Amino acid sequence: MRLIFDKSVEGRKGLKISDSDVSVQANLPKKYQRDNPPNLPQVSELDVVRHYSNLSAMNFSVDANFYPLGSCTMKYNPKFTEMIANMAGFTDLHPLLPQLLGGGMLAQGSLEVIYKTERLLSEITGMSSFTTHPLAGAHGELTGVMIIAAYHKHAGNRRKYIIVPDSSHGTNPASAAIAGYEVIVVSTGKDGCMDIDEFKNRLNDQVAGVMLTCPNTLGIFNPRIKEIADLAHRSGALMYYDGANLNAIIGKARPGDLGFDIVHLNLHKSFAAPHGGGGPGSGPVGVKEGLVKFLPIPRIAKRNDGTFALDYNYPDSIGYIASFYGNFSVILKAYAYMVYLGKSGLIDVSEKAVLNANYLRSSLKKYFDIPYDRICMHEFVISVSKQKQKGISALDIAKYLIDNKIHPPTVYFPLIVKEAMMIEPAETESKETLDDFIRVMKDAAELSSKSPEILRCAPVSTPVGRLDEVKAAKDLNLRWHKR
Ligand SMILES: *Cc1c(COP(=O)(O)O)cnc(C)c1O
Repeated sequence: MRLIFDKSVEGRKGLKISDSDVSVQANLPKKYQRDNPPNLPQVSELDVVRHYSNLSAMNFSVDANFYPLGSCTMKYNPKFTEMIANMAGFTDLHPLLPQLLGGGMLAQGSLEVIYKTERLLSEITGMSSFTTHPLAGAHGELTGVMIIAAYHKHAGNRRKYIIVPDSSHGTNPASAAIAGYEVIVVSTGKDGCMDIDEFKNRLNDQVAGVMLTCPNTLGIFNPRIKEIADLAHRSGALMYYDGANLNAIIGKARPGDLGFDIVHLNLHKSFAAPHGGGGPGSGPVGVKEGLVKFLPIPRIAKRNDGTFALDYNYPDSIGYIASFYGNFSVILKAYAYMVYLGKSGLIDVSEKAVLNANYLRSSLKKYFDIPYDRICMHEFVISVSKQKQKGISALDIAKYLIDNKIHPPTVYFPLIVKEAMMIEPAETESKETLDDFIRVMKDAAELSSKSPEILRCAPVSTPVGRLDEVKAAKDLNLRWHKR
């Protein structure tokens, strides 16, 4: 039973128990019914509200603070997508619901959402087809590398290696290794892009695939990407696009047109769900025509009569990679977001993401070293090396930002930059917020010579102050709570 608003009683005033809900309960066979009511804790509304309000206030959240965490992009949920994901027609669905039930077609709308999301993502990336099953970016990578393996196995030559640049996200070599490949790491040149001569030297007929992030984790778009793709293809390797940074190029360039054969996207980075917080995520994978037959099952098919169905008839498929059909609420939010923004809105997202990042980069370079200082895409990486000479580390500055109500950027990544701070403002922040961040970073740079102890003691505004990180790792206590 549940309480619903009774529409018959003047708008939203009356609350009553829905008759239909009661009858669902009454129709349940006796053996499935409870003998006793559930033993639920009894607490007042006020206690419940206080509990959750206090919990939410313990979080350093994007609803309260600027969050320039690099490589994580979309840090918030647009509120309208939350409303759509909360609609009962979606939330009340059970994943085992028949696709076509007595003409009622209960799950048809949801299948249509997944189908249309896959079509839109194909259009945006220049791929033939997508699967929305993978549950995270790393899971999408594993799916993609398994497709690479299936492709070569099918061609009769398994091949041994996957090439990744040293600027890559750690999940790239990890996914390649889990799928059974040895990883060849190619270093980054002075221009911030994969060293192309070294790449040529390492490429051989045992290389199965090349995994690239473009723009990469330094926020730099590789202008020689087509040349790299041509070289890889000529030696029989497939090109894999790590699309976690797609928000920099949506509507501007398509990985498929740049020569990539497989791509994963992070819906929880570029399409209306926040990254971090432990999920749920969604890492859909798209492929070019010749690889469609390897995609995981089930696929969503559109029948001639316009209805949608699950299709298991793909004998060359890599099989199941997740239960059911992916994290549906994340897919739904991404769909709502794409439809609402439309083509021009999505282009606007990438333009503003890049503009905001370059505004910060050009303002901060007066105070910090920027090792790969050139026009960046959606993010850039500074080095705290100048300040390090005075004994101040990236970590000290990160802690100081907390005292100034700013979430620290990603620190110590990518690994190729010493004392790295990877800054990504995203498209949604105002100029006032960006200017405030510049001011606080300028203060931090000045304090590193004038009063370094302020930075070394930060944060002073949090309940526990500066954490002893070694102790936190060795003597983990997740139960810290003031009550
Ligand atoms: C976040 C990220 C990933 C991994 O995505 P998850 O959803 O965290 O598994 C891969 N590559 C890059 C460049 C990323 O930023």
